[in-house]
Amino acid sequence: YAKKHHQHLQIYHQQIDVNTVDRLQLVNDLKPAIEQDELVLFYQPKLNLKLNKVTHVEALVRWQHPIRGMIPPDSFIPIAEKMGQMNALTNWVINQALDQYLLWQQQGVELSIAINISAENLKDDQFCQHILQMIKDKKVPIEALTLEITEDAVVADPEHAIKQLTELKQHGLKLSIDDYGTGYSSLAQLKQLPVDELKIDKSFVQNLMSSEDDKIIVSSTLQLAHNLGLKVVAEGIEDEGSLKWLTQRGCEMGQGFYLSKPVDAEKLTQWLAQSKY
Ligand code: C2E
Ligand code: CA
Ligand code: CA
Ligand code: CA
Repeated sequence: YAKKHHQHLQIYHQQIDVNTVDRLQLVNDLKPAIEQDELVLFYQPKLNLKLNKVTHVEALVRWQHPIRGMIPPDSFIPIAEKMGQMNALTNWVINQALDQYLLWQQQGVELSIAINISAENLKDDQFCQHILQMIKDKKVPIEALTLEITEDAVVADPEHAIKQLTELKQHGLKLSIDDYGTGYSSLAQLKQLPVDELKIDKSFVQNLMSSEDDKIIVSSTLQLAHNLGLKVVAEGIEDEGSLKWLTQRGCEMGQGFYLSKPVDAEKLTQWLAQSKY
């Protein structure tokens, strides 16, 4: 059922994706958009289920297009990946997130930020060095960042990915496997990855309360991850029941619309101030 559900999601994404002519136009617009700061980062809280406190946020990019309005990442990230724009985009995201981290510090808000990294980034040999340099230049503590990497990014070229990730990890960056369960990484590969946490894909979490299959998949994943010494983040929590169920089963972190949708930095600060977390 879970797999079917996921395929359904992919079809849905293709439908809302822009058509080919539009896509060509978007490609032309993306480079100046990055330079002219048309991109904006939204932040979604990651709740620490043991402490019942928001300790992390995930940065999710949007494009405020002057004509089309707000464009979701699924509509332009794949284009950026194909057209060699992904390093520029990720650099922009990291810079922006580091600045936001420092701003929150000044306001007395202690939040680590998770950044999404694409397979394209890992292909670039300079990528590691560049990230580490940016963090150093801005004088941000290395624990302030987590990198979320999809299973697919690792499966594409496991040896190279493991090498890059190991280097980042050695410098103290926290690493997370995103969309866990939707890719095809083997247990052998998973064991070799120097990661700290698994993010169970939202397709297994969204319908947790009504699906026995999803409950089985999520419990087994929690067990597997814990036995391998990994922490688990559940994304796509949409109701209180799922939040409680996951907390009772030792899931370390939770994220989803039930807590908050991704919002801009200012709204996130307001949300934090008034929420019980
Ligand atoms: P992701 O990394 O798996 O991020 C989670 C997505 O699920 C986000 O969509 C988020 O808004 C959505 N989500 C969170 N909670 C819930 C929930 O309870 N229910 C449902 N139905 N959805 C939920 P968003 O922001 O549209 O991002 C989509 C994808 O775009 C991300 O998936 C990520 O793969 C990619 N992306 C976003 N920002 C970046 C970025 O800066 N760099 C890279 N490389 N990829 C990015
Ligand atoms: Ca993510
Ligand atoms: Ca995910
Ligand atoms: Ca995803």
